[in-house]
Amino acid sequence: MEQKKLKTFREKLLQKKNEILVAYNKNKTYGKEADEEGAQDIADKASNSYTKEFLFSLSNSERDMLQLVDEALHRIDGRRFGSCVVCEGEIERKRLDAVPWAKHCISCQEKQEQGLL
Ligand SMILES: [Zn+2]
Repeated sequence: MEQKKLKTFREKLLQKKNEILVAYNKNKTYGKEADEEGAQDIADKASNSYTKEFLFSLSNSERDMLQLVDEALHRIDGRRFGSCVVCEGEIERKRLDAVPWAKHCISCQEKQEQGLL
């Protein structure tokens, strides 16, 4: 995949990650306005390694989503982004545009949903 496209996906992924962290921060500081600086701070801290407490306090869906987003970011760094993790086939571009953290091509995704993977 071209660098420019990869960069766009990386930005989308980082944005998604930030959304999760900001939403988390808002829940956490309920009643207080979560300012942008605070959210940025969390994103910075969380970008390298998550603390156990931090991960523990996230809901399952938030944690799963963060993991998917992180894995996708690692695939970008490892130049494996855009390939299905199961069959190594190319993930459909439209699918990546809609779901940049997708790690399966459509046919593998369907198999997984049917419990065949
Ligand atoms: Zn596949």
